[in-house]
Amino acid sequence: MILLKNAMVFAPEALGQMDVLLGMGKIVKMAKNIDKNSIALDIEEVDCEGKCLIPGFIDQHVHMIGGGGEAGFHSRTPEVLFSKVVEAGITTMLGVLGTDGTTRHLESLLAKARALEIEGISTYILTGSYEVPVNTLCGSIRRDIILIDKVIGVGEIAISDHRSSQPTKQELKRIATEARLGGMLSAKCGITQFHLGDGKSDLKMLFEIIEETEIPMRHLVPTHVNRNPKLFEDAIRYAKAGGYIDITSGISNAVGFGKAVKPSKALKECLENGVNIDNITMSSDGNGSMAQYNDKGQVERLLVTTMDATQKEMRDAVIDEGIDMSNVVKTVTENVAKVLGLYPKKGCIKEGSDADILVLDKDLAINSVIAKGAFLMRDKEVLVKGTFEE
Ligand code: ZN
Repeated sequence: MILLKNAMVFAPEALGQMDVLLGMGKIVKMAKNIDKNSIALDIEEVDCEGKCLIPGFIDQHVHMIGGGGEAGFHSRTPEVLFSKVVEAGITTMLGVLGTDGTTRHLESLLAKARALEIEGISTYILTGSYEVPVNTLCGSIRRDIILIDKVIGVGEIAISDHRSSQPTKQELKRIATEARLGGMLSAKCGITQFHLGDGKSDLKMLFEIIEETEIPMRHLVPTHVNRNPKLFEDAIRYAKAGGYIDITSGISNAVGFGKAVKPSKALKECLENGVNIDNITMSSDGNGSMAQYNDKGQVERLLVTTMDATQKEMRDAVIDEGIDMSNVVKTVTENVAKVLGLYPKKGCIKEGSDADILVLDKDLAINSVIAKGAFLMRDKEVLVKGTFEE
C-alpha cells in the first residue's frame, strides 16, 4: 500500500490538500489526514508536499503499433516503447491503426494492447482503420465490440481527407449504428472515432448524420479538429450542439503544421466561444506519422508524433492561457473516461477508482507516474520499462 501525503489534489476538481491511500491497484481512502500507524498494514508513506496529484492521462488516440507508411515502406513508424508511454504520463491508452489497414493488422494491435497491459498500463483498442468497408477481427464491427474485451468502438474512420475511402453518408450511418449496437450489447461506449483531414467538407457529414438519424451525438467523435482554423470553427459548432470534439495535442506549429490551431489556444478558443468544457477532450495522436504535403499532393516531410505533446499543451493551457487547472485536466482525464465509458473506474481520483495518478511538480512537469497502484516513474526516473528495453 502507498500513502501519498499532503498533496494538492485535482480530482480533476480542486479538492485542496489531501492524503490519498492506494492499495490493490485502487484508491482505498482519501482524507485530510490519514495516519499510517492507525492502519495495521505495511504502508509506504510518500511525502507530496508542494506537489499536485491529477488522474493519469487517458490518451484515446495512439498508434501503438506504429502508423504511417505514406511515403513508402521505409516511412512506417515503429511500435511504441513502454518507457515513452510512462514518461508521457499515459496510464490508459486507446490504440488505433490509421492509414494503413493492409500491412498493419488488428491482430497485431490487439496483441500490442495486451502487451502494454502486462507491462503496466490499461489499454483498449478500436477496430477498423481509415478504410471503408471496415476491416474487422470477427467479421463485423458489432461482433468485434461484443466478443473482444479490448475493443470498445471503431475508428479512426477517415473523412474529409484525401487519404479516406470517400465513404458515403449511408456507409457512415451504418458504421456508427453497428458500433452503437455492439456497445449497447456489451456495456461499452460503442463510439465511432472519425479522423478529420483538411478536406473542404469538414464536419458536414457528421452534422447530417445527427440530423437524419436517431444516433446520439456522443457516439460520433471527431478527432484532429484543430488541424486548420476552418475545421476548428466547425468543431466549435459541433461541440456547442452537444457533441464531443477531440483536439490533437500532437498537431501544432511546433511540428510544422503551419495552419494548425495550437492545442492550448484551441482549448481557450473553445471556452471563449461558449463550449462546455465537458465536451472537449485532448489526445496525442502519438507514434503516428505526420505527413506534410505540398501543393501537388506529394509528401514533403514526414515526422513521428510524440506522446508527450499532451503534457506540454496542458502546461501551456494553464500557464500561458490562464485556463483553470481543473478544466484543463478534465480534457485529458475525466472527459475522456466519459467518452470511452470508463468513468468512474478511470479518469478521476476518487475512493474506489483505479489508482492511476500523476504527481506533478510546481511547474506542472510530471514527477511521478502511478498506474494500477504501482510506481512506473518516480522522481523523474522511469522504473518500469518495456520488456525489451535496456
Ligand atoms: Zn488520424
